[in-house]
Amino acid sequence: MQHSPKGLAKCVMCGASEDQPGTFPMVVGVGRVCLSDGMQKVRCEACGTEVKLLTSSKLQGRTLCLSDYMKEIEKFRQHVVRSFDEDSEPALSILQRAYKDAPEGYTLLAVRRGRNSTHVWEAEYEKTELFEMRCS
Ligand SMILES: [Zn+2]
Ligand SMILES: [Zn+2]
Repeated sequence: MQHSPKGLAKCVMCGASEDQPGTFPMVVGVGRVCLSDGMQKVRCEACGTEVKLLTSSKLQGRTLCLSDYMKEIEKFRQHVVRSFDEDSEPALSILQRAYKDAPEGYTLLAVRRGRNSTHVWEAEYEKTELFEMRCS
């Protein structure tokens, strides 16, 4: 790994260095790419559509278009757990926040003490559609 001037990313495809921090977009599973490499077409390995590298993602070695990437991710993310630290905020506010700040599309199932911890709380969420399926 070469060191670049601080904060400046290098394109993982061609090695070009950006002029200003944050210019090169991040491609999930690939890394930062320059704009010309980002415009290159890649083929989605799930549906075969050609998409710009910029709008693709790499998951477990497969290049995927955005919608297939989302589909893949969904499979893994039927449950989401978030942790909150009682050292940095009172339990009451954690309980309220766990409920109010539920990730979009998820329903809060439970808030409980983290395992082996006296100050960490874990909020468990389930995908709302699964939740509703079970409850109706
Ligand atoms: Zn490049
Ligand atoms: Zn696709």
